[in-house]
Amino acid sequence: MSLSAPAVAARTASPTRLGVHALDVALDGLSDRLDGALVRPADLDWDAARAAWQLGVDQHPVAVVLARSEADVARTLRLATRMGVRVAPQSSGHGAVALGPLDGAILLRMSALSAVVIDAEARTATVGAGATWGDVSDAAAPHGLAGLSGSSRTVGVVGYCLGGGIGWLGRLHGLGAGTILAARVALPGGAVVIASPSEHADLFWALRGGGGAGVVTELTLRLFDVPHLVAGTLWWPRGRAAEVLTAWARLIPTLPHEVTTVARVVRFPDIDALPPHLRGAELVLVQAAVVGSAGLADRLLSPLRELEPFMDDVAPAPLETLGHLAMDPPEPSAGVAEGLVLATLDAAAIDAWLAALDSPDCAGVVSADLRQLGGALAPRAGEDAALTGIDGAVAAVAVAPVTPHADAAAAAAMVEAALASLAPWAGAHQYANFVERPIDERALVGTATDRLDTVRLSYDPDETVMRRHGHATGRAAVDAA
Ligand SMILES: Cc1cc2nc3c(=O)[nH]c(=O)nc-3n(C[C@H](O)[C@H](O)[C@H](O)COP(=O)(O)OP(=O)(O)OC[C@H]3O[C@@H](n4cnc5c(N)ncnc54)[C@H](O)[C@@H]3O)c2cc1C
Repeated sequence: MSLSAPAVAARTASPTRLGVHALDVALDGLSDRLDGALVRPADLDWDAARAAWQLGVDQHPVAVVLARSEADVARTLRLATRMGVRVAPQSSGHGAVALGPLDGAILLRMSALSAVVIDAEARTATVGAGATWGDVSDAAAPHGLAGLSGSSRTVGVVGYCLGGGIGWLGRLHGLGAGTILAARVALPGGAVVIASPSEHADLFWALRGGGGAGVVTELTLRLFDVPHLVAGTLWWPRGRAAEVLTAWARLIPTLPHEVTTVARVVRFPDIDALPPHLRGAELVLVQAAVVGSAGLADRLLSPLRELEPFMDDVAPAPLETLGHLAMDPPEPSAGVAEGLVLATLDAAAIDAWLAALDSPDCAGVVSADLRQLGGALAPRAGEDAALTGIDGAVAAVAVAPVTPHADAAAAAAMVEAALASLAPWAGAHQYANFVERPIDERALVGTATDRLDTVRLSYDPDETVMRRHGHATGRAAVDAA
């Protein structure tokens, strides 16, 4: 299947004056019909409307639709299909780097569709496409229920689940993608379909970790009972990093699936917002979430406690703690975050990682995490999902902020230098949600790539809907070649 003639013309030639005028007129008409709003470059709220959570990305679409209803999404897609322009759905914009440039596209902002409805008896959450994990946690936790959220409350549920979704409960229950029970999806042309195991099953498969096709307007997700949670952090000075990481690496293969840990080397900024003992501190941390009793957590974490952390706040905790444990920034920020899945973690890998983090090449890396995988996060044979798990022992993630001393390119180089030190231990496949650089989709989902291309092209033959990594993969890459 190939791009239709009008679509090719709209995307490859610079728009003629007539074409620009026709699009302007069409956008005027769309603006009149929307429940939400259409924002264009001349409007006062243009900069706010086009801003992503990732402030390092300067998005320049032709217009922004602030959708307030599913009908707005359908209306936008109908216009886009007719005019041959692309549509980029975005809720938070955490994944804006991987989306690539929006030139000529309409940015479809979903944030206002943030309703969350919990069915406590069925243990499900039905969430609008703009809902964040914070919205879900606030609604589900009072029922003793949790979704498979990641480290941050501000990350959008849809983008996270479509890319896989690794979180604190993942080793016990699997990827966020695997909890999708059904989705409402608006397609190019404006039709809305339900994707579930019994309706549009191919689209349902593609949405579960493969990015899907079309624009999701609503997801229904499975929730989990979490009767007892123990969570918190063990803290040591940075100088203890080698012995702490070595002990942690020895411990993690012995831990049951109820336990998820992350070992981190961090540099806290010297800012007033932090307590005095953390300002400017360089530390090594092990953070843990244990679904179980305090006694179980004490027993399992004792090899780390023997290393006498100077602070230890691991304790029984309410479910909401999971959204704060990682201390992710609560506000939009500019920075570079990249990850690398490791097949194994041994003593040589830890040495290489710490040597890189000590070098001037990585001086701006503020957080260097080794996230424990395994358990129910491992790929599962027979599961009906484009991504059934992550094949690896550990995911390394390095973060460098953009600062007056390090622009985006410098921050990216520092993150790259940190991850390059672990290249000899890299797994065969990488994990989409932790990859911002252009990457061939085969490196993300392996043999599922061909089936994904087939499903996407059957629902979106002109590739009207943009998606992360789409600029480096699939039909777009073939056409560009
Ligand atoms: C601080 C921080 C912490 C993170 N922690 C974790 C973590 O613990 N675990 C983890 O797995 N990942 C984590 N991530 C990565 C995160 O899961 C991805 O960046 C994810 O894509 C963000 O989704 P979003 O909806 O918030 O972002 P957006 O940028 O709004 O969306 C990302 C992409 O998802 C797709 N998309 C979004 N909405 C729709 C829709 N309605 N229909 C169709 N496609 C859509 C599009 O391709 C879009 O480009 C983290 C990221 C950050 C910045």
